[in-house]
Amino acid sequence: MGRKVLVLGEAREGALRHVSFEAIAAGATVAEGGEVVGVLVGKGVKNLGDELIHYGANRVIVTEHDDLDSYTSDGYAQALLAVIQEEKPEAIIFGHTALGKDLSPKLAARLDKGLISDVTALEAAGGNLVFTRPIYSGKAFEKKISTEDFIFATIRPNNISALEKDTNRTGDVKEFDVEIKNLRTIVKEVVRKATQGVDLSEAKVVIAGGRGVKSEDGFKPLEDLADVLGGAVGASRGACDAEYCDYSLQIGQTGKVVTPDLYIACGISGAIQHLAGMSNSKVIVAINKDAEANIFKVADYGIVGDLFEVVPLLTEEFKKL
Ligand code: FAD
Repeated sequence: MGRKVLVLGEAREGALRHVSFEAIAAGATVAEGGEVVGVLVGKGVKNLGDELIHYGANRVIVTEHDDLDSYTSDGYAQALLAVIQEEKPEAIIFGHTALGKDLSPKLAARLDKGLISDVTALEAAGGNLVFTRPIYSGKAFEKKISTEDFIFATIRPNNISALEKDTNRTGDVKEFDVEIKNLRTIVKEVVRKATQGVDLSEAKVVIAGGRGVKSEDGFKPLEDLADVLGGAVGASRGACDAEYCDYSLQIGQTGKVVTPDLYIACGISGAIQHLAGMSNSKVIVAINKDAEANIFKVADYGIVGDLFEVVPLLTEEFKKL
């Protein structure tokens, strides 16, 4: 049969986020031999089209407009609805990112369609497409089959493998003019916080600190370890509430959801709300001086000890590799 699937490529500061490539791979599964069409929305994003093709898109549509320079759900929804009207796809895939979480329900509601959000796995089985997604804050997973004629899904970063990049793949990258009107939100200026290089939601290694780090300075050994491993620093809400770090680092039910290859929890007790944001990490290491701490129940490796002794030792050992 084969479906036509649109996949939104998400750009940030002139580069595509890796989840865009994972979404292309998910799109290829949903397409079942049909066409995967990458969509880029923004300003100055056309040059990113080829990369979507190298990761498996058959072609790319670019909608550029001055009013799309910064993300607004209003502007992006207008652009995407115009593309949907033109292309008449049978499915749309987004990354389950801040942008995807904001935009996808709006579009699904406009089109009067259901939305399968936060998909962690996807397979074509027995003539059906089966979507796996977490429920009850990650304590269980459900498998869903769409009964609609149109599939709308967001995929969780770091769960569905991107296809191998192949620079020999070719395809059209075409501009599509859109009219953006009556925007209810205009972004005048974007003030960025100084952040470290690795994006927490997409990081392969996360070193997270809890109330056990005891102060803002207590994060320094965690940052050193993250630097050596090329990872990002995250935090529990306990650490954020205590003002040891910014809330943008919070992981958990009311923070970011991460699925890195390696998650090192330092001085984090393992409250259920924290586990909701990290328990699907591939390998979990817990460092806590309380051997009874709940975090050890989800950890693959546990170190009972003082994080201020253990973390610098780990950093020194990893430096030798
Ligand atoms: P604590 O529970 O105080 O644990 C600190 C740990 O550090 C202890 O286990 C202690 O043994 C250990 N420790 C202390 N010193 C050291 C040392 N030197 N070396 C090693 N270990 C040490 N929490 C989140 O994280 N994310 C969320 O998104 C979130 N959302 C929430 C939503 C709601 C509606 C509610 C009610 C709560 C939410 N929480 C969330 C809060 C959550 O319930 C916990 O309060 C919080 O996760 C605790 O943070 P913590 O583990 O850092 O602190």
